[in-house]
Amino acid sequence: KMSNETLKAELGNASWKLFHTILARYPENPTPEQKQHLADYIRSFALVYPCGDCARHFAVLLEKYPPQLSSRKTAALWGCHIHNQVNLRLHKQEYDCSTILEDYDCGCGQDEAEELQ
Ligand code: FAD
Repeated sequence: KMSNETLKAELGNASWKLFHTILARYPENPTPEQKQHLADYIRSFALVYPCGDCARHFAVLLEKYPPQLSSRKTAALWGCHIHNQVNLRLHKQEYDCSTILEDYDCGCGQDEAEELQ
């Protein structure tokens, strides 16, 4: 069986991947309803995250850095910044946020092109 540290790291990896990918696919010009959906997702993510200590720390970070949901770029940069705050606490390297949208390509760009048609 894998060690608890390895399991916790794998959960973190998978969670961050989904988190950043969702932010990178958030609409460029979100409607109030779309903003609410993302706000609800982020709040629920913090509430249900299964590592209790992580969830508590993340909730404190959310208070300090409230989600910025005015556009895709803004939301993706906010997500990158808050992950960097977690990195800082865990003594990990700071991530370069300048290519955040390209870094989290879901492979579903075609869906968006179809929506615009
Ligand atoms: P991760 O931090 O998991 O990152 C995965 C990949 O994302 C990296 O390899 C890199 O390619 C990329 N990345 C790194 N930084 C960024 C960024 N700023 N923006 C975008 N992409 C980036 N672990 C604990 O031990 N204690 C905690 O309190 C804790 N709190 C957590 C809170 C949350 C909400 C989450 C989701 C995870 C938490 N974790 C915590 C887990 C921790 O953040 C890492 O996921 C875990 O330590 C594995 O780290 P990693 O080095 O593999 O990279």
